[in-house]
Amino acid sequence: VFVSDSRATILHADLDAFYASVEQRDDPRLRGRPVVVGGGVVLAASYEARACGVRSAMGGGRARRLCPHAVVVPPRWPAYVEASRAVFEIFRRTSPLVEGISIDEAFLDVRGLERLQGSAVDIAAGLRREVRGSVGLPITVGVATTKFLAKVASAVGKPDGLMVVPDGQERAFLDPLPVERLWGVGPATAGRLRARGIRTVGDAARMDEEALVALLGRALGRKLHSLAHNRDPRPVRGGRGRRRSVGSQCALDFTSRPPEAVDRTLVALVDRVARRARKGGHAGRTVVLRLRFGDYTRAARSTTLRDATADTRPILEAARGLLADVRPVIERRGLTLLGVAVSNMDGGGVQLALPIEGERDRALDAAVDRVRDRFGTRAVTRASLGEERERGLAPWLMPE
Ligand SMILES: [Mg+2]
Repeated sequence: VFVSDSRATILHADLDAFYASVEQRDDPRLRGRPVVVGGGVVLAASYEARACGVRSAMGGGRARRLCPHAVVVPPRWPAYVEASRAVFEIFRRTSPLVEGISIDEAFLDVRGLERLQGSAVDIAAGLRREVRGSVGLPITVGVATTKFLAKVASAVGKPDGLMVVPDGQERAFLDPLPVERLWGVGPATAGRLRARGIRTVGDAARMDEEALVALLGRALGRKLHSLAHNRDPRPVRGGRGRRRSVGSQCALDFTSRPPEAVDRTLVALVDRVARRARKGGHAGRTVVLRLRFGDYTRAARSTTLRDATADTRPILEAARGLLADVRPVIERRGLTLLGVAVSNMDGGGVQLALPIEGERDRALDAAVDRVRDRFGTRAVTRASLGEERERGLAPWLMPE
């Protein structure tokens, strides 16, 4: 039996244009045509629509101007959740080490599986075949020695591709890529780098760490220096992922409320959040208060405790302190939404950060939350779910 000694065992598997692909799978008339999911804000665009320049998070009007022939369909969350569940089942059959990143994306480490299943490349190819064959969706897989590089590889390999960066070939692969491929490099950072003649990852890799820090600040400079050299020590966290936060929020019906009523709402929210944290075995150090005022502007305040906790009392005390600080603003502008979260979770979490297991509701929440995370809290309200989520106590998560 051939046993590969390659260290390139990390897979980044990412479904292509996920929501749009599900629509094309389920309605043959949409295949080969530009498909846009979501009318108000583009939630997903098929590759045919992307060819016209349509992108996720774009306004619907602009998308229609760019691509007048596009078929615009409303999102069907249950179908996406079901497809995600099926794909993650395949991930878990493929490797015991699966770390979900979002509804359509995960890292897998296949180290040690070679004897049973073949090389990492064989495993990745088999995974793609199985997702296509049994779920009917295209997926791109990047294979490399680090999570960072596997993710870059899948991005480069899209759509419907398999991109392998063999052990030892990292430099050759990275150097010619535009510097925007590095995590954390948005348009602003890219502009600053380009102004200094740094256009490719190779250009960045040739810079001293000090020079990058001087240009971009300590945190980003160091991070970019590490990534440009493919230094990413993070392991694939298998099994049950780490939850980032537990939170709850409540829409208030009045633009102005007496302080006692706001406090009662806060108590109920904290109680619920703390109970959910305890039930899930989570404890967090940071208490976050989210507010939406009467004029629909939003604010968030947070404070970090000395110790991680899931106890109601310290969370409530912290939340009350935060609320007291913004009381004058509330009195001036009114309050239409109040939310509390505990984040900065310790590593002892037992719940999935992702919608893969457990009841449909949670899965749906996470799908919705992913969209909210990317496009803003109001995107989903507008797009599909209506006001009901905003009423009552709507649970929310913050995916990575
Ligand atoms: Mg994807």
